[in-house]
Amino acid sequence: RTVYLNGEYLPETEAKVSIFDRAFLMADGVYEVTSVLGGKLIDFAGHARRLERSLAELDIKKPAAFGDLLEIHRKLVDLNDISEGLIYLQVTRGAPGDRDFAFPDPETTEPTLVLFTQNKPGLSDNPVAKKGIKVISIDDIRWGRRDIKTVQLLYPSMGKMMARKAGADDAWMVEDGFVTEGTSNNAYIVKDGKIITRNLGTDILHGITRAAVLACAREAQMAVEERPFSIDEAREADEAFLTSASAFVMPVVEIDGASVGTGTPGPVAGRLREIYLAESLKAAL
Ligand code: PMP
Repeated sequence: RTVYLNGEYLPETEAKVSIFDRAFLMADGVYEVTSVLGGKLIDFAGHARRLERSLAELDIKKPAAFGDLLEIHRKLVDLNDISEGLIYLQVTRGAPGDRDFAFPDPETTEPTLVLFTQNKPGLSDNPVAKKGIKVISIDDIRWGRRDIKTVQLLYPSMGKMMARKAGADDAWMVEDGFVTEGTSNNAYIVKDGKIITRNLGTDILHGITRAAVLACAREAQMAVEERPFSIDEAREADEAFLTSASAFVMPVVEIDGASVGTGTPGPVAGRLREIYLAESLKAAL
């Protein structure tokens, strides 16, 4: 696999980052994951825009212009012959000469830019979407700026492991009685035809797939309500589902061991998945 590191395309075994890199020492970095379908980038502009926002919120220097980032993504798709898969991008504050809590001078420490591809044949025609997945609920004990897509992912990883241990696929996190989001996705329920998902704020990531899927829903005259919901309300819902760049729209059929609705993927999630895949492919770069 060929990867990208700070201006160079290299075999993955030759791409090396300093031990003083602040992402390694302090999780001082941000990332994006963009999916590839039919060799093209899905929602690239949204991911590039959110990257820019994450960088600005943390005062990390932007490592490359929009057009350069697009070209790097496309070149990696090409070099690694990706038809369906993912592109991971990470920007860190860089590697000053020593460890220090204070940010280094941006004049002397350049950000680190890394990209690599993950080949995932069958990403769009995922058999899991036909069965749906099971989630458990866990406390949301993450920091308060979840709108910034940092590489500080230890608690979400622990959440995945808690789910796995409980015989489930993922965990939805709960704060003050309401679902915030999944470990790596935004959470939704459907009641009487209405799609309900938490409103944006600093307490959740502003999912790029969320924005695109809600636009598809509104375009299709489906009712959308952006507000918090509880696990109890979710268990009483007709359907539940989640969205992310890698899962697209994924039905959730069980929450904390209890079936949601009929316990099978619902029509709203199914329809949204279809519309989103069709629309995003049309607009792919
Ligand atoms: N919330 C969290 C916590 C996530 O990690 C992700 C995926 N990175 C999402 C939501 C979904 O965001 P997107 O649709 O941009 O992939």
